[in-house]
Amino acid sequence: MLVCKWGFDGSSGHSQYKQSFADASCTDEFLYLVVLGPLRLQDVETENVMWVNPSPSSTLYCRPIKFIFKKENKELIRDEEKNILEKINNLNPFDIKFDNGQICTVVYTMFTMMDGSIANIVSDTNATSKCIICQATTKHMNLENISRPSQIENYRFGLSTLHCWIRFFECLLHIGYRLPIKSWQVKGAENKEIIENNKKKIQAEFKSRMGLIVDKPKPGYGSSNDGNTARSFFYNQELSSEILGIDKNLIVKFSIILRVLASGRPIKIENFKELLGETKQVYLDLYRWYYMPSSVHKVLEHGCEIIESFSLPIGQLSEDALEARHKEVRKYRLFHTRKCSRISSNTDLLKRLLLTSEPLISTKRKVTTRKSNKLDIDVQKYLICEDIVEIIS
Ligand SMILES: [Zn+2]
Repeated sequence: MLVCKWGFDGSSGHSQYKQSFADASCTDEFLYLVVLGPLRLQDVETENVMWVNPSPSSTLYCRPIKFIFKKENKELIRDEEKNILEKINNLNPFDIKFDNGQICTVVYTMFTMMDGSIANIVSDTNATSKCIICQATTKHMNLENISRPSQIENYRFGLSTLHCWIRFFECLLHIGYRLPIKSWQVKGAENKEIIENNKKKIQAEFKSRMGLIVDKPKPGYGSSNDGNTARSFFYNQELSSEILGIDKNLIVKFSIILRVLASGRPIKIENFKELLGETKQVYLDLYRWYYMPSSVHKVLEHGCEIIESFSLPIGQLSEDALEARHKEVRKYRLFHTRKCSRISSNTDLLKRLLLTSEPLISTKRKVTTRKSNKLDIDVQKYLICEDIVEIIS
């Protein structure tokens, strides 16, 4: 059985060239990318793992399925999801014939990787503030017991572990801005000014003391709050707590949760459940006045059920590879494609995307462990100590 993850995402701010489009509504400023990444090859009967993707978050095995020059919108997202699901349903098992006449049949298991906002649209949850699992709205988020029925079919969207870093970071950031007034809603010109000044002060301190550019719009695409900024914030808990005025204990707890999720290793569910419960309590005790964002609620409330619904560690299903691919596409289009015609630049881009994710070439590369992948004792406590490298050998 070949286990894969697939996903799609749009990005903006791509270079625009003087090339004509057949469809006038298209522009090469926006690009929509559909990708597929193999995760492991496993014997169905014995469950022996024959091959495992050594870096599921990198783009080394991230194969392009399709790219479209179109701005992301609800219609496009729904159409593409339908399209890919149809193709997955029509997949035929693949036979490999060996020299000795033996035939090996490969079947497929496909997991989705997408960020929370896309999952929201695909699952027909109308507002991003609503939980896609229990449909809780903003007003329900800070209740001690949110006993609402879970929509189990939406577990398949996973936890979007990369975006978790950013969403958890932004949650604390917004609490930090509002600390002087301790209210979720900012009413009145006077309060707005207090918050605005506090925000500026916090942004300046992040820049001067940690070198982080926080909550600033990036020309062309999104905001400066990316995965790296969020990780720096959670790795420097002491300093972050000092600048933002947020309780250090809560930052530490958030940080452990995020690192456990991102580790890509199997999690001790009972212990982790306890940690999620404790974290929610700490949050409510300290900042009940700020409604928990749906993405934080999803992890704290439904995290364990979602993790248990997957046969693979949740971190391996992260959407990092997809996000990183967008950055590479920007670079490849600019530096490695011919600009003489639309056909040549698209051909060059596709060839490069295929080449840089070619599994055979990628397996020859040496995998280096990043410093952040070395897990400290706080994180290890929540992991079943099965090392990915051990599976390969
Ligand atoms: Zn929920």
